[in-house]
Amino acid sequence: MSLPYLRPELAAFTAYSPHAEDSQGELREFDQLDTNECPYDLPVPLKEKLAWLYQQEIRANRYPDGSHGSLKAAIADYVSEALTAQTAVTADHITVGNGSDELIRSILIAACLGNHGSVLVANPTFSMYAILAKTLGIPVIVTERDPETFALDLPTATQAIAEASQPVRVVFMVHPNSPTANALTAAELDWLKQLPETTLVVIDEAYFEFSQQTTVAECLSHSNWIVLRTFSKAFRLAAHRVGYGIACPELIWALEKVRLPYNLPSLSQAIARLALDHRQELLARVPEILSERQLLTAAIQVLGANLQVWPSQANFLYLRPQVGNGDAQHQLQSLHRHLARMGTRVRQTGGGLRITIGTPAENQRTLAHLKSALAMTAP
Ligand SMILES: *Cc1c(COP(=O)(O)O)cnc(C)c1O
Repeated sequence: MSLPYLRPELAAFTAYSPHAEDSQGELREFDQLDTNECPYDLPVPLKEKLAWLYQQEIRANRYPDGSHGSLKAAIADYVSEALTAQTAVTADHITVGNGSDELIRSILIAACLGNHGSVLVANPTFSMYAILAKTLGIPVIVTERDPETFALDLPTATQAIAEASQPVRVVFMVHPNSPTANALTAAELDWLKQLPETTLVVIDEAYFEFSQQTTVAECLSHSNWIVLRTFSKAFRLAAHRVGYGIACPELIWALEKVRLPYNLPSLSQAIARLALDHRQELLARVPEILSERQLLTAAIQVLGANLQVWPSQANFLYLRPQVGNGDAQHQLQSLHRHLARMGTRVRQTGGGLRITIGTPAENQRTLAHLKSALAMTAP
C-alpha cells in the first residue's frame, strides 16, 4: 500500500536496526559484541538506589525537570576534572540529549535544515550522522580515509568542502573513530582548527573514558566547536539513553531551542546523576577492558597473516581479512556469519569487523570462534 502523503525519498530508507546483518536470530545465548557497550551491568546497590529514588522521590505523574539543571552541573564538574585548572566548564556549556543521537539530530536541525547547508563525514565512521542527515533531507558529503591508517586525506577533504554544492555547515569526527578505533592525529586537529567559522566542528568523544583524549579545551576557545559524549559506553547506562554536548553557551542555547521539551525521562536523569556520583566505582572497569583489549589484539596478531587488526584507543577492535587472499568481501561476510553461528555477535561495517571488548570469558570465546571461523573460511 502506498501512502501518498509521505515524502517520496523515505521509500529508499530502512529503519535503523543495530543487528541488521544477523541472520542467526534463533540463537538464544550469544556474546553481544556488536554495539560497544560495557559488558557489566550496574552494581546492584546502584540499581537499588535508583529503585528507592523512584519510590520515594520521583513523581510519575509529573513531567521531568525540563532544564536538566542539576544533571548539567554534575556533568560540568565531571568534564572539568580532565582539564587544567584554568579552564572551567559550567552548566551553561552543557546540553543534555536522549542519547547523543538526539544531539546529532539537534545539530543538524540547527545548522543545516531548510537548505542552509550540507555535512561532511569521513568513512568508515559512525553511521548515524549520515542516516539522520538523510532523513532530514540534508546532503551528505563523504570523504574517504587512508586504507592503512584511517587518517583523513586532508587535501581531498579540503577539496570536497570547496566543491560542495551546498556549503558544508557541519564536519563530524569521532575521536577515537568508530569503527576503526584511531584517535585524531595532530595534523587532523590542525586541519579542523583552520576550518572557517561558518562550519561547525563536531568531535564525538563517545569513547573518551577509554582513550582519555579530549578536545574540550579546544572547543571552549572556538565558537564553532562542540564535543559530544555519552553515558552509553564506559558509564554502563545504554538502557537509559543519556548523552551530552559541551560547547560555548550561545551554541548550547541554539540547540536547546530545537530539542523536544521533556527529552530526558526523570529516571534517566536520576541514574545519570547517580552514575556521576559513583564514577570511580563504575569507571574502575575501564583498566580491565583496556588490558583485555591488549591481550585480544596480541592473540589475534599471532593467529596468522589472514587478518589485519589495528591498534585501538577505544573499547573495541577493528579487523579486516587481508586482501589478496581471494575475495576479501566474501571472506568478510563468511567470517561474520560463522562468528554469529558460534554465538559471537560482532558488527560488519566499513569493509571489516568491529568487535567490542567484553568480559575476559567473552574475549576468550571471541578468540576461539575467530580461530574456528578462519579455519572454515580459509581460501
Ligand atoms: C555509541 C556511540 C554514540 C552513543 O550514542 P548514544 O545515542 O548516546 O547512545 C555516539 N557516537 C558514537 C560514535 C558512538 O559509537
